[in-house]
Amino acid sequence: MSGLGKLRVAVIGAGAAGLCAARHILARQDLFTPPVVYELTKYVGGTWVYEDRVGHYDNGLPIHSSMYRDLRTNIPKEVMSFPDFPFAAHLPSFVHHTEVRKYLEQYCDHFRLWDHIRFGTMVDTVNPVKEESRWKGLAWDVTTSDGVDRSLSIKERFDAVMVCNGHFYDPYIPAIPGLEKFKGMLMHSHDYRSAEPFEGKSVVLLGAGLSGLDISMELSSVNAKVILSHGQQPLTCPLPPGVEQAPPVARVLDDGTLEFKDGNQAMPEVFLFCTGYNFTFPFLNKEVGVQVKDHLVFPLYKFLIPPAYPSLFIVGICRAICPFPHFHVQSQFIMSVLEGSFPLPSREEMEKDIELDIAARRARGIATRHILKLDSEQWAYNDHLAQLGGFEPLPRYWSNLYESNKVFRARDMLNYKTHNYAVLNETDWMVQNLQGQQ
Ligand code: FAD
Repeated sequence: MSGLGKLRVAVIGAGAAGLCAARHILARQDLFTPPVVYELTKYVGGTWVYEDRVGHYDNGLPIHSSMYRDLRTNIPKEVMSFPDFPFAAHLPSFVHHTEVRKYLEQYCDHFRLWDHIRFGTMVDTVNPVKEESRWKGLAWDVTTSDGVDRSLSIKERFDAVMVCNGHFYDPYIPAIPGLEKFKGMLMHSHDYRSAEPFEGKSVVLLGAGLSGLDISMELSSVNAKVILSHGQQPLTCPLPPGVEQAPPVARVLDDGTLEFKDGNQAMPEVFLFCTGYNFTFPFLNKEVGVQVKDHLVFPLYKFLIPPAYPSLFIVGICRAICPFPHFHVQSQFIMSVLEGSFPLPSREEMEKDIELDIAARRARGIATRHILKLDSEQWAYNDHLAQLGGFEPLPRYWSNLYESNKVFRARDMLNYKTHNYAVLNETDWMVQNLQGQQ
């Protein structure tokens, strides 16, 4: 980096990932000018900014957050937090979403991020520009507007861009033959806010991920009759009252009946998709070559960097992870790339690395659509980045508690959030976890 002066970095989005990116850029004022964080809403927190409405904001832009009213976190605050900024001590382990939003605002206070965020500013385009005098001979033109009137658009030049636009806002609905014939209410969990409108109703809920399980419990509490339709191994833990399991929906018949893969049928009042979200980077110039296919974003070195444009960083796209600590590790790694303490391999070497990594995952039977689902491999990934970047890895406490919580959740989805890890010591919950595995 020597001779280039301080680098100017743009951050797209002021959710947890964008705030974390800004915090790490700001910590290195010797290397970087203060970050410019673009945020299309008026708030920090992204997903954690609950919106009672569904559909669109007053300005016509689509509502970003998929948060529902009564959500409490599914990861204990002890390891959900950024490792350098704990949640308030008085809070229980599984906090209401309002506490997470407050926590992210406190993070902004603590690391003095507010002045660097441009609210109500949507990134419309991100274009690479060849410029010899810049880092890696590359600069980025970022154009922004209020998201409504593009004639008022502004262009600024940066040395690097960190994309932190989230990936829980564009609903994914799988193709089901005959779906248009369904006569009841069709909706996606992105638009689910609370259980009351479903009181006493019959619901087929497709998808048994964390949101699917959580929402099925909420629906059970208002006496909805829920068929939890999913393609995983049947759940063996006790289910909430009124909830039964079924295989995935195979098709919708002419009269609107849903037919499951085992041939059984149902005609519910509501068909609720808890089927996840699409990745979208609508602002990114196609020339950069970042593609999304079957839920895989590629080619990205270490799931972060397009080899041909190594001053662009797509943060936080991995799934089934402990998000905030993951963002913390990825941001530190990016800093080490930009400061040069981790010199990136050549473009060809990075492309080879990606190819080998994906091939190895496929050889282990991982389908393309699950490649970004790191799950327990996230800890090795985090450690790997820490080793390459030469910074402290996450303490073992993080993986131990996160993995134990997963075991408790699988064993008892109805009660795992009653654990309070602040009063249990590590040996207690590790032993409980191991007993459950025997
Ligand atoms: P987001 O929070 O989505 O933030 C992205 C930001 O980018 C938004 O503010 C958006 O307005 C902005 N943006 C997007 N496009 C543009 C643009 N073009 N220009 C300017 N700004 C833009 N994680 C946990 O750790 N624990 C949990 O218990 C948990 N529960 C969850 C429950 C639900 C229902 C969902 C949907 C997610 C949950 N998560 C949970 C995951 C959660 O999404 C992550 O923790 C984290 O908040 C993601 O942060 P992010 O910054 O990547 O994305």
